[in-house]
Amino acid sequence: MPKTEITGYLSLGGNIEPREDYLRRAAAALDARPGLRVTRLSALYETAPWGGVPQADFLNMAAAVATTLTPEELLTACQETEALLGRDRARGERWGPREIDIDILLLGKLIRSAPELTIPHPRLTERAFVLVPLLEIAPGLKLPDGTPLTALTGRGAVRRYP
Ligand code: ADP
Ligand code: MG
Repeated sequence: MPKTEITGYLSLGGNIEPREDYLRRAAAALDARPGLRVTRLSALYETAPWGGVPQADFLNMAAAVATTLTPEELLTACQETEALLGRDRARGERWGPREIDIDILLLGKLIRSAPELTIPHPRLTERAFVLVPLLEIAPGLKLPDGTPLTALTGRGAVRRYP
């Protein structure tokens, strides 16, 4: 019997040019992986950087995926896609500039809190640059505990790009 697909949501962002290219190539590379389909992409949003490191503005996007992968396999798919696009984790400070960062926001109704993989993403509820693109593609979305995403107000300014 074929495995059941689960709907998940990813956040993609980067602040090294060409930013839009990196986002598009990341989405295409994810979609090309076995067991993973990208079903929806948000518009692009521009945000000022977080975390106190002076650096260029980020371009962010949310993606809906349908997947038969396990949570660990999905994380591997995200990390291998980051590496494919040139992100070198050894290079930088945690909050520094990056070609592409791909985070798992939600995966069905899964709840997991391990340092290597926490779902829902711990900063999902805090950040406008994550919530705004996500709500654009999934306005009725709820957290596993039933909280509607529309009830959350993330911090920070986010503007449609271009
Ligand atoms: P950040 O995304 O916080 O800016 P990184 O992309 O370097 O920083 O991720 C740091 C670590 O976060 C990764 O090694 C990964 O194992 C872990 N992690 C925990 N939960 C998640 C998640 N939901 N999505 C992606 N990575 C996660
Ligand atoms: Mg990340």
